[in-house]
Amino acid sequence: MNEKRIVIVGGGVAGIAAALRLEKKHLPNVKIVLVNDKPHFEYHSALYRLVTGSSPLEVCIPLRNIFFKKNIEIVEDRIIELHKESKTIVGSSGSQYHYDYLLLGLGSETNYFNIPGLKEFSFGMKSITEAIRLKRHISETLLTCKIDFTNKVEQICDANFVVIGAGATGVELAGQLIAYARALAEEYGIDPTLVSVELIEGAPKILPALPKEFTDPIELHLRALGINIFLNRSIEREEVEEVFLKDMEMKARTVIWTAGVRANVMYEAWGLPIDKRGKVEVDEHLRLKDEPTVFIIGDGAATKFSGWAQSATYDGNHVADIIDEMIRGGTHFSPYRSTMPINAIPAGPKWAAVLLGPVRIYGRLGWWLRRIADLRAFSEILPLRKALKIWRNGNSICETCSICSVELPHEHA
Ligand SMILES: Cc1cc2nc3c(=O)[nH]c(=O)nc-3n(C[C@H](O)[C@H](O)[C@H](O)COP(=O)(O)OP(=O)(O)OC[C@H]3O[C@@H](n4cnc5c(N)ncnc54)[C@H](O)[C@@H]3O)c2cc1C
Repeated sequence: MNEKRIVIVGGGVAGIAAALRLEKKHLPNVKIVLVNDKPHFEYHSALYRLVTGSSPLEVCIPLRNIFFKKNIEIVEDRIIELHKESKTIVGSSGSQYHYDYLLLGLGSETNYFNIPGLKEFSFGMKSITEAIRLKRHISETLLTCKIDFTNKVEQICDANFVVIGAGATGVELAGQLIAYARALAEEYGIDPTLVSVELIEGAPKILPALPKEFTDPIELHLRALGINIFLNRSIEREEVEEVFLKDMEMKARTVIWTAGVRANVMYEAWGLPIDKRGKVEVDEHLRLKDEPTVFIIGDGAATKFSGWAQSATYDGNHVADIIDEMIRGGTHFSPYRSTMPINAIPAGPKWAAVLLGPVRIYGRLGWWLRRIADLRAFSEILPLRKALKIWRNGNSICETCSICSVELPHEHA
C-alpha cells in the first residue's frame, strides 16, 4: 500500500494543533510533514509583554520542543508555489513537496489599507521581530529625553507613544506600555511625567466588537492609568514624526499600528477564492470547494470566528478528525462547530477584563484568569512541566538586554 502524505504548511496555532492531533491517531502508512518558514512557534498573545520588558522565551517556542519524540517531520522552508493539479507545493529552498492531503495554516499579516506613509513610518505588532524592533525603539526614544550635560548635545525629547487601533492588541499594549515606559524613564533618570500614551480608535468606543457595558470599565481603567483615548478618529496619513487623523494632527516619533490584519497574501497569489474579508472561501469542513483534499485552517479561513487563537486550535483539531475519517474510508464527518471565543483582555499591569457569557470580571482576578488561559494554551502543545516553565517566563523580566532589565512599579506582568 502506498504511503499517504499529509503536509501541513504553517507551524502556528492551527498547524500545530492539527499535527499533534493527527500524530496521536497513529494512522498506519501515513507520513505527517509540517513545513514552517521559521524554526519556532510565535505566541502572539504575549507579544505586548515582549515589547514591555518580559522575556522573549515566552513568545518563542522551538518547534523541536513541541514535536519532541513525535512522529512528525519538521521542515524549515517558505512555501511559495501551490500546484493543485500535481498535488505539489514548492518552497523558496527549491524543494518540492508532494501531498495527498494539504493543510494550509499560513496565518495573517498586517494590513495597512493603503494609508499613505503608514507602512513606511509606523511600527507593527505582528511578529517577534516587529516586537523587538519596537522595544528597542522605545528605549532609544526615551534616551532622547536624557539631557547630555557633558557633551552639551541638544536633543528633542519625544516620549509620546501613539497606539492606533483600540482593539484587543491596542488595548493590551497601551495599558502595559504606559507603566513600562514610565518605569524605564525613571531608570534612565528622566522625569516619568514626560511619557504619554495616546490610544486612537476610529469607532465611537474602544474594543468595537464587544458590548459597551463590558468595555466601559476597561476604558475608565485605561484613562485612570493616564492614557489619552481619542475615539471617532480614523487615520488619514502618516509622515515622518507626524500622524494625521480626521480633524487632528499629532507629533510623534512612535506610531504603533494595531488596527488592521488580513489573511496571508500567498492565498490570493495562489488564486484561491477570497471573500470580502480577504479570507479563503471554504466548505463546511474547511476544504477548498473544488479540492476536497486541500484544507484552510486558522486565520486564513473564512469562518465566523477566524482571527482568534481558540478558533485556529479548533480548526486544526477538526481537520485532523476529518482527514482521519477520510483515510479510513468514512464519509460522515462531525459538523464544524467553532464557537465565540472567550474574551480575556489585559489592560495594564496585573489588570484584565474577562467576558464569560453574561459574567464580567475585572481587575486582578481577570488578570489571573487570563494567565491561566495562557497556561492552558501552552499545555495544549507541550507537556505540563515544559508548559509551566514557558509560562513562568511571562512573569520574568528579560535579562539578556539592558533595555528590558527594569522592574515595573506594580509587579510587572
Ligand atoms: C499581537 C497579537 C495578539 C493576539 N492576541 C490574541 C489573544 O489574546 N487571543 C486570541 O485568541 N488570539 C489572539 N491573537 C490572534 C492569534 O494569534 C491568531 O488568531 C492565531 O495565531 C492564528 O493561528 P494560525 O495558525 O492561523 O496562524 P499563525 O499562528 O500566525 O501561524 C502561521 C504560521 O505560518 C507560517 N507561515 C506563513 N507563511 C508561510 C509560508 N509561505 N511557508 C511556510 N510557513 C509560513 C508563519 O511563520 C507562522 O508560523 C493575537 C494576534 C496578534 C498579532
